[in-house]
Amino acid sequence: MQKRIIIIGAGFAGMYAALSAARLREAQGVAPEKLQIALVAPEPTLTIRPRLYEAKPETLGAPLGEVLAAVDVVYVQGRAEKIDTRARSVKIAPAAGRPHVLGYDRLVLASGSELFRPEIPGLSEFAFSVDTLADAIALDRHLQGLAVRPTSEARNTVVVAGGGFTGIEVATEMPARLRTILGEEARPRVVIVERNAAIARDMGEAPRPVIEKALRDLGIETQMGVGVSGVDRGGVMLSDGRRIESSTVIWAAGMRAAPLAAQIPAEHDNSGRLIVDRELRVPGVPGVFATGDAAKAASDDLGNFALMSCQHATRMGAFAGNNAAAELLGVRPVAYRQEAYVTCLDLGAAGAVFTRGWDRKVELVGDAAKKLKHEINTVWIYPPRADRAAALAAAEPVRVTDL
Ligand SMILES: Cc1cc2nc3c(=O)[nH]c(=O)nc-3n(C[C@H](O)[C@H](O)[C@H](O)COP(=O)(O)OP(=O)(O)OC[C@H]3O[C@@H](n4cnc5c(N)ncnc54)[C@H](O)[C@@H]3O)c2cc1C
Repeated sequence: MQKRIIIIGAGFAGMYAALSAARLREAQGVAPEKLQIALVAPEPTLTIRPRLYEAKPETLGAPLGEVLAAVDVVYVQGRAEKIDTRARSVKIAPAAGRPHVLGYDRLVLASGSELFRPEIPGLSEFAFSVDTLADAIALDRHLQGLAVRPTSEARNTVVVAGGGFTGIEVATEMPARLRTILGEEARPRVVIVERNAAIARDMGEAPRPVIEKALRDLGIETQMGVGVSGVDRGGVMLSDGRRIESSTVIWAAGMRAAPLAAQIPAEHDNSGRLIVDRELRVPGVPGVFATGDAAKAASDDLGNFALMSCQHATRMGAFAGNNAAAELLGVRPVAYRQEAYVTCLDLGAAGAVFTRGWDRKVELVGDAAKKLKHEINTVWIYPPRADRAAALAAAEPVRVTDL
C-alpha cells in the first residue's frame, strides 16, 4: 500500500523538506508509487521573503512547479485548514472547489511565520508591511502613487515602525527608492521608530556602530525608546504623545509562527513555534514533524536555537523531510545540527554588514558585505535547478552549504 508524507508550506523549509524526502526515497530505491510526497501550498511558488524590502517586489516569486515535478513530488494546490493528528489527516481548501481531506503517514509542518500586528488603532487599516509578496507589492504601488500627489511633509515622509533586522533593511533602502519616485528635490524623510533604547537590539553590540553610521550617512532619523500608539491615513501617533505626519507607515516589528502551528496539540514557545526534538519531531504527536519558522529547535549542543530565518529554515527543512521519509523507509533519522551562524544585513546605499558567530563578530562591511548580500539574495536562496540529480543533491541535509 502506498504511504504518504504531507508537507504543508512552500517556503524555504517546505521546499527543502520535499526535496530532501525525495532524495532519501531515491537513495533507498523506493518508487514514488510506494511513497508519495505531497506538498500543500496556496501557490507552487517560493516567495523570496528576505528580498521583500527591495523595489520591484512583483519579481520576487520563484516558480517551484518544475523542480517539484523533476523529483516526483506531488504539488497539491490549496490551504491546509484543519489538521487532525488523531486521524492523521489534513483538510485542504483549494482556491476553487470544495475542501478535501488527505491522509498522511508523516506530516511535516512548514507553514512558516507571519508579521505580528498588535491591537494598535489604525494599524491594520493604514500601515504597510513587507511580510508577504502581496504586502510588498501593495507598498510599492503606494510609493509609486506618491509621485502624483502634491508635495507635502506627509507625502515625503516614511515612518518605519521597528528597528530590528527587517525595519533597518526597509528603512535604509527607502531614501533611494523615494528619490527614484519623487525626484531629488523632494528631500524625502525616513524615520525609524523603535521601542527599545538601542537599534538592532537582537543583533547585539558588535555590528551596531556600523549600522548607526549607515543610518547617519543616509540621513535616516531614529526615534528610540518610543512606541507607535496609533496610525491613520495622515501619520503616526507615538507613545509619548508626539505625532509624525506621514502618508507611509511601515510596520516591521516582530514575527509569529503562522496560525496553523497552533492546531498541533503540543508545546509552543512565545512566538507560537512548536518545540521540537533534535530530529525535528513534535514530541507527543506521533507522525508529526515541524520545521523552519514553525519550529523551535536546538541548533547545536551549546544552547543555541534556530532563529526565524531563511538560513535556518532551509537547513531545518532538509532535515525534517529526510527524517519523515527515514521513519517510513526504515532508515535512521539524522539529528539536526547547524553550528555555523552568520548574518548579512543590507544597509541600502551605505553597503551592508556581515557577521559570523552567535556573538556577531563583524567580518565584512561596506561594498564587500554588499557584494556578498547580493549573492545571497540573488543566487543562494533561490530554488535549485529543475534537474533531478542537481535538485536531490542540493537537499542532502548534512551537505547543505554552510558559509
Ligand atoms: C523583509 C524580510 C527580510 C528577511 N531577511 C532575512 C535575511 O536577511 N536572512 C534570513 O535568514 N531570513 C530573513 N528573513 C526571514 C525569512 O524570510 C524567513 O525566516 C523564512 O521565509 C522562513 O521560511 P519558512 O519556509 O519557514 O516559512 P515561510 O517562508 O514563511 O513559508 C511558509 C509557507 O507556508 C505556506 N503556508 C502558511 N500557512 C499555510 C496553510 N495553512 N496551508 C498551506 N500553506 C501554508 C505559505 O504560503 C508559505 O508558502 C526575512 C523576512 C522578511 C519578511
